[in-house]
Amino acid sequence: QGKGKIGIIGSGLIGRSWAMIFASAGYNVTMFDIKESQLTGAMADITNQLAELQKSGTLRGALTAEQQRALISVTSDMKEAVTGAFHVQECVPENEELKKKVFSEMEQYADDAAVLCSSVSYIEPSKLFAHLKRRSQFIAAHPTNPPYYCPLVEIIPSPWTEQSVVSRTRTLLEEVGQVPVTVKKEIYGFALNRMQIAIVNEAWRLVADGVMSPEDVDKVFTAGLGMRYAFCGPFEVIHLNAEGIASYLERYGSTIQRVSSTFGPPPAFTGPVYDAIVQDNDAHYPLDKLQEMRGWRDARLVALAKLKKDM
Ligand code: NAD
Repeated sequence: QGKGKIGIIGSGLIGRSWAMIFASAGYNVTMFDIKESQLTGAMADITNQLAELQKSGTLRGALTAEQQRALISVTSDMKEAVTGAFHVQECVPENEELKKKVFSEMEQYADDAAVLCSSVSYIEPSKLFAHLKRRSQFIAAHPTNPPYYCPLVEIIPSPWTEQSVVSRTRTLLEEVGQVPVTVKKEIYGFALNRMQIAIVNEAWRLVADGVMSPEDVDKVFTAGLGMRYAFCGPFEVIHLNAEGIASYLERYGSTIQRVSSTFGPPPAFTGPVYDAIVQDNDAHYPLDKLQEMRGWRDARLVALAKLKKDM
């Protein structure tokens, strides 16, 4: 017996994570996929994860793992997932044509008042929603991987999205424990990925220019910048690094501009640097151990989330 129905389209990494998040708040979730094997895998994964989270005392929400598991069902029929849902979360691969086709199908079955939401990472919603009859009901909500442990969600309305759809999406996300932020103006890659790409580009250039090893570049984050960024954003960091932002910029503004003028063009991600970075990472994190490494990462993210909550 859940609070209301939520449909999930696509049961991969992101779809199954949304299912767990919505079930943790007591919603009935129906997950659809075109691949039967993905649905079977998703349910086994969810059952396993919920049991582990319960065992470690880090399960979200007030319900038991068994009660949450019972709120989630799967179907090979999109209509069954969408009909009667007040919110539908699309999680199919990042492909413009595929997403457009899936949205056209979703709007055929959706309830009049349903919010139709995409987990899209990069593509501007106006490109994805322009062709739809019910485009005022569509919105994008881009989660942060892994969504169960990293609560940030970027909400991106299209030019046609109704204000009530924006506010209902925000309210639902807050209720289930995520942290929504709004991308007020469409831009390719939104905010999170643009910032991540700026970092990856500079990390790559530092290795390419022989300034640092890939391993040490990662330490700049894990033992340096990442320590503060888990608690303070870039503006807060510089505010605290001097007597406020004005004082920081008075001292370092011209230095920042000088350093900025030395950033190179976007890397090509090919050649000997590519080989060095791929080999270095494959040696540290063997490809057949990635699932284990993700478990290791998630356990630490849970501990960090707990620390932040208890502060
Ligand atoms: P994934 O490949 O793990 O899962 C995609 C699922 O969609 C698969 O189970 C596939 O069978 C299914 N699918 C394919 N075509 C379908 C269709 N027509 N109807 C229904 N299901 C279909 O991908 P993912 O990592 O879960 O990504 C899904 C979306 O979420 C993408 O837009 C991605 O950019 C976005 N996203 C991903 C991450 C991430 O780090 N993985 C983070 C945030 C957002």
